[in-house]
Amino acid sequence: MQSHFSCEEIRQRTLRVKDTLRCPHCDTKLEQWEVPQTPFIEWSSEFQYICFNDECAYFQAGWSVMKSQRNACSYRFMYDPASGGCHAVPALTNETLRENIVHVTLCDNLYETPAS
Ligand SMILES: [Zn+2]
Repeated sequence: MQSHFSCEEIRQRTLRVKDTLRCPHCDTKLEQWEVPQTPFIEWSSEFQYICFNDECAYFQAGWSVMKSQRNACSYRFMYDPASGGCHAVPALTNETLRENIVHVTLCDNLYETPAS
């Protein structure tokens, strides 16, 4: 189900992100994201929080916004816990950035799976 919020609702929800850790645009829980090691960007903290919902209204709108600026990419909603600020983080495709998602409850490969 797709949630749509008015601009005022989004503004209010953006102010509460530090408590909710939910995307103000689509209400999806933000993923903890480990910042990449790059000499080009100075990150303010080790982790950021990003909305990885491909249906997110913000991410969806980003494609046409960037296209109008002749860029074939979009951006996702990002919350910076160090500064408490909200930013747009560029994403070239749906898959960009995903490799750095921190999976806190990663319990794969604990047991042998039965052969099918
Ligand atoms: Zn979102």
